Amino acid sequence: MALSNNAFFPLQLSNQKRKLGVALMGLGYYSTDLLAPALQLTKNCELRGIITGSPDKAKKWQAQYNIADKNIYDYKSFPGIANNPDIDIVYVVLPPALHAEYSIKAANAGKHVWCEKPMAMTVEECQAMIDACHKNKVKLSIGYRLHHEPVTQKIIAFGKEKKYGSIINIETYAGYVDNRTNHWKQIKKLGGGCMYDMGVYPLNAARYITNEEPVAVTAHQSTTRPEIYKEVDETMHFILEFPGGAKAECEASFGKNMNNMKTTCAKGWYALEPFSAYSGVSGKTSDGIILEPAITDVPYEQVKQMDEDALAILNNTPVIVPGEEGLKDIKVVRAIYQSVKENKRVTIG
Ligand code: NAD
Repeated sequence: MALSNNAFFPLQLSNQKRKLGVALMGLGYYSTDLLAPALQLTKNCELRGIITGSPDKAKKWQAQYNIADKNIYDYKSFPGIANNPDIDIVYVVLPPALHAEYSIKAANAGKHVWCEKPMAMTVEECQAMIDACHKNKVKLSIGYRLHHEPVTQKIIAFGKEKKYGSIINIETYAGYVDNRTNHWKQIKKLGGGCMYDMGVYPLNAARYITNEEPVAVTAHQSTTRPEIYKEVDETMHFILEFPGGAKAECEASFGKNMNNMKTTCAKGWYALEPFSAYSGVSGKTSDGIILEPAITDVPYEQVKQMDEDALAILNNTPVIVPGEEGLKDIKVVRAIYQSVKENKRVTIG
């Protein structure tokens, strides 16, 4: 039996409402290769502005995406965005250590905030972002695109329905080989380290699969390239314990290619490989269900994510991934680092 081909259709604007204007902040890899192309396909929002420290990039993006002069900001002029009705949403796509500062600035400018994962460096920063958005009456969404992805949503439903009985064990691994030596991912003060970057995928998966919050973690950090990974983690192995009795064995790495998840339950199992890719999330279950990506005319997961997040703003409905979800991950990330530092199992309050 296949669960495939339940194609989603691009979400249409109700009542011919206008498209929301998005300004991308930080024009690096993710904005350039994924978000800006996806914003050419979205139905409920469009790329209308940029915030960049690089005049060369501003010129190139302006030509490529036909961005009005008045919608181009650098980090100094950015607060002026408060008076720009073209821009409804600021999407923060910066290194993680800058997420809190600029999300709060965007909220204080009266703009809705989309912020990339990991949400921020500490629980306190995450809370400050939530509070700033609440105070300014704007919505905050975290860029966990998989919560919008149909196969992942089926996996989440399996756990909620206990389709295969209670969950006993989850194994989930995410990593790629990063050969850069001086990028923010290798710099602690910018929010580097594989746990913040790739680690939130297995961590978030363990949480959405169990639909529970972990009560304890035991973590170990390692590197095969100590000359590069001097100040941040290259590989993190962590075991999460959940209140219902499930355990999740997780690993994240900048030194290994890994992208899989297997969940073993009392009455069966389900597995995805890849489980966190930009497209093609797929897998199978112990009773022969093939989990395939929906066939759709929308090629980017990010299109669905941004259209659904824009629709939540237009209709004033709850967002799929609120700040509270990002905060819950960061709370566990901090416990993981504490476990490494103290070399012991850490309980999570
Ligand atoms: P990147 O290094 O390619 O881009 C970061 C951008 O921030 C660059 O344009 C850089 O110039 C700019 N920047 C501004 N101030 C900076 C400073 N002080 N130091 C360094 N850079 C500064 O990184 P990226 O891969 O695009 O990642 C950006 C964010 O997007 C991260 O939070 C990352 O985790 C997230 N991301 C998410 C996904 C996803 O699938 N959701 C995928 C990739 C990246």
